Amino acid sequence: MGYKFDGCDTVALAREYGTPLYVLSECLVRERLSELRTSFLDRYEDTFALYASKAFLTLEMCRIVASEGIGLDVVSGGEIYIANRAGFPMERVFFHGNNKSREELEFAIDLGVGRIVVDSVHELELVTRVAAERSARPRILFRITPGVAGHTHEYISTGQVDSKFGIPLLSDDLENVVRTALASEHVELLGFHAHIGSQLHANDAFLEATGVLFELVKRVQPLGLRTRELNLGGGYGVRYTSDDDPKPLGYFTDAIMEAVRTHSARLGLPVPRIVIEPGRWIVAEAGVTLYTVGSIKQIPGVRTYVAVDGGMADNPRPALYGARYAAVVADRPDDPAESLVTVAGKCCESGDILIKDIKLQNPRPGDTLAVFSTGAYNHSMASTYNLLPRPAVVMTNAGMHRLSVRRETYDDLLARELTRTEADAS
Ligand SMILES: *Cc1c(COP(=O)(O)O)cnc(C)c1O
Repeated sequence: MGYKFDGCDTVALAREYGTPLYVLSECLVRERLSELRTSFLDRYEDTFALYASKAFLTLEMCRIVASEGIGLDVVSGGEIYIANRAGFPMERVFFHGNNKSREELEFAIDLGVGRIVVDSVHELELVTRVAAERSARPRILFRITPGVAGHTHEYISTGQVDSKFGIPLLSDDLENVVRTALASEHVELLGFHAHIGSQLHANDAFLEATGVLFELVKRVQPLGLRTRELNLGGGYGVRYTSDDDPKPLGYFTDAIMEAVRTHSARLGLPVPRIVIEPGRWIVAEAGVTLYTVGSIKQIPGVRTYVAVDGGMADNPRPALYGARYAAVVADRPDDPAESLVTVAGKCCESGDILIKDIKLQNPRPGDTLAVFSTGAYNHSMASTYNLLPRPAVVMTNAGMHRLSVRRETYDDLLARELTRTEADAS
């Protein structure tokens, strides 16, 4: 019996759909969304949650999120487009990003997105202009850089002072953008947003950021702003390997809401709506990637490379920020994991190593390797490097499975190229 994931035999899935294959469990995604509801939304009044769609976005994912009543955090015209095509209610779509283009803002405002999270002085000017041209009045938040460092990898830490994201807290820019926004008929300023980083296992940085946001709310009150909404971003940690010890969502949100209550009381401020935006926490552990083992290279006294039929093209995270993953030989999950190997991808880069030094169940050519917790930032970050067609996505649901995104074909890889005659004619 092969390794079972969400009631499905992964070796059989690999055989039926081919590899590499992304498998995402609808069941596990819905379990997280339901935990989000019980431990946060239903527990605290005037709260809202968004799924950070950059973690994994397909039409089907949009529909699952929509059906659970939460919102969508998007960062590009493409993500707005797919949400719209899925029939996602636009008032529940919040538009983030540090360099939104005029076209993207026009698109977002025309479709009536729920919030635009304005990242800079420049962007406020652009949003106001685009909104004025349309006689629109989008609701906005300002993203601020709270100067709080989440304890995580540098590339996924965003809240420290030296960051490309947000308006620095300690600058006159903040007062200026608040004044400008309040004076404009073409934006409705609701409050502030801060996202401090990702894959955080401790709540201290969230609490610090909450405190910083409340000081800001107090600081801008004399300008005439009554802050109605604070968005604290995402970043709740998940289990990639046994080194991770993720806490339940309530560990973060209970502490945050307690801090919200304390700060409001201390500063004499009304309690604003609190919004959170988990991404990986919703999908990472709901996904596995299946590969087929190919060549195995033993370098005596050095290491054994086990090569699989995918790699950095379908999962760039190990190469991008040294991310660690765990895996199992799906054909023999109950065998002792006694072979120390390094799982390599098939891309022409020495850095294309999926898992360095992992103990596996004596992998052999033809075995199916299941890599865990790949539901977030794998499908969404995939490339066609080396012209490897991107994998299919299969959705499972308690023993059932169906193809959700088909595998890319060689013709797909050429679909955007103009032949010489077409190029000459255009
Ligand atoms: C990426 C991101 C998130 C989600 O981060 P996760 O680590 O996936 O939870 C939330 N909000 C913003 C603004 C982000 O950029």
